[in-house]
Amino acid sequence: MRYVSTRGAAPALAFDDVLLAGLARDGGLYVPESWPRLSAADLRSFSGLEYAELAERIMTPFVGGRVEAGVFTRIVRETYAAFEHGAVAPLRQLDGKTWLMELFHGPTLAFKDVALQLLGRLYDHVLRQRGQHVTIVGATSGDTGSAAIEAFRDRPAVEIFMLHPYGRVSEVQRRQMTTVAAANVFNIAIEGTFDDCQDLVKAMFNDLAFRDELNLSAVNSINWARVMAQIVYYVWAAVALGAPERPIAFAVPTGNFGNIYAGYGARQMGVPIERLIVGSNRNDILTRFFGSGRMQIETVQPSLSPSMDIQVSSNLERLLFDLYDRDGAAMAQAMASFRRNGQLAIGDARWQAARALFDAYRCDDKETLAAIASLHRQTGELIDPHSAIGVAAAHLGAKGDGIPVVALATAHPAKFPDAVERATGQRPPLPARLADLFDRPERVEILPNDLRAVQAYIRDRRLKGAA
Ligand SMILES: *Cc1c(COP(=O)(O)O)cnc(C)c1O
Repeated sequence: MRYVSTRGAAPALAFDDVLLAGLARDGGLYVPESWPRLSAADLRSFSGLEYAELAERIMTPFVGGRVEAGVFTRIVRETYAAFEHGAVAPLRQLDGKTWLMELFHGPTLAFKDVALQLLGRLYDHVLRQRGQHVTIVGATSGDTGSAAIEAFRDRPAVEIFMLHPYGRVSEVQRRQMTTVAAANVFNIAIEGTFDDCQDLVKAMFNDLAFRDELNLSAVNSINWARVMAQIVYYVWAAVALGAPERPIAFAVPTGNFGNIYAGYGARQMGVPIERLIVGSNRNDILTRFFGSGRMQIETVQPSLSPSMDIQVSSNLERLLFDLYDRDGAAMAQAMASFRRNGQLAIGDARWQAARALFDAYRCDDKETLAAIASLHRQTGELIDPHSAIGVAAAHLGAKGDGIPVVALATAHPAKFPDAVERATGQRPPLPARLADLFDRPERVEILPNDLRAVQAYIRDRRLKGAA
């Protein structure tokens, strides 16, 4: 299995190189050269497997022998044994045609654990084997930071530095990052906004001397291995609800198009997915794109679902690559023009092709609260604001054709207790394993929004750590 860049000018790479590279050198994203196919007989044979067994079966062709089979089996088993629920991604039926798939039973209570827990272990193995050491630098407004820190803590070949905007992340999210007592974890609170944090990270990656000196690495949602790990739960739900005989639809709260693109991957592999329904918050670039065939950047507005407050959906480039018939040069041109003008029109034929599979709905804060309240009234379940957008999109996108719709629950309600309480009057408690979160000591360095100061801090801590 080889991976090619969506912009056509970077070398094709094997799995382990794509894992560590993140972004391709031509600015593109890596995708598999061709999709492994699952036959109807394969899908039937998956019935009754445990999550980790299924995960191994689905991911093995993508790894392409670059991690020895026995080691990969162990890594996948360990990854999903770290989840609190025995089913890893349990399904709950909400009504006659709607299910909720709970993806928040990992260590940090958000779906990002499903992929990042695997990534941490894969990095550890590949780096040890190569005798290499990397410095992971990232910016977070909440969920990504805690999931990445939990995944890379105590891994000897890695130091992780996570930037968050000082005073601008929720207390639960901050504490999930700053209370991790591991010598290779460094939290930096920047006196600035999330955009300032992102700009600092970009500037560090663009400083090639610094980048090479510290061997910088990124684990944001464009990393191929994250997509690969997410494909598994789409297959899991489809098989549980009757694939290959019965088709299925998914409704996904998404901003970066990372989660739902994995659903597209499952469909390319042969899973009978009839529809993929995008749920956006008020930052609705994706909903506008699927409604018009045009992508247009607007300014980010804060919402009750902060993990979807983004302006540019990076992973959409992977879908566009297929819509542009995998023509890397055409993609490079389209993306350059998008960057210049802040807009991109893909043309009617491509838009129709996208519409044949994707549907998209927008849900503002008021509708989000209403969706939380309504589900609570009907079923007694508490859901977080991101998951509520998935459930709302599932209802809006249901076609009355009897096809089951699975809404993806991407965060535990206790991660966003204020919104849940506002909608229902009930404050969801933290699960027992996090119950003492507010008593644990915090470790964080507050730094000015200044590139040199941040670089000096990272260089100093990194060199001490490696010594
Ligand atoms: C990251 C995140 C999302 C959005 O994920 P995408 O990569 O944009 O699809 C949705 N919900 C929660 C809780 C998240 O943490």
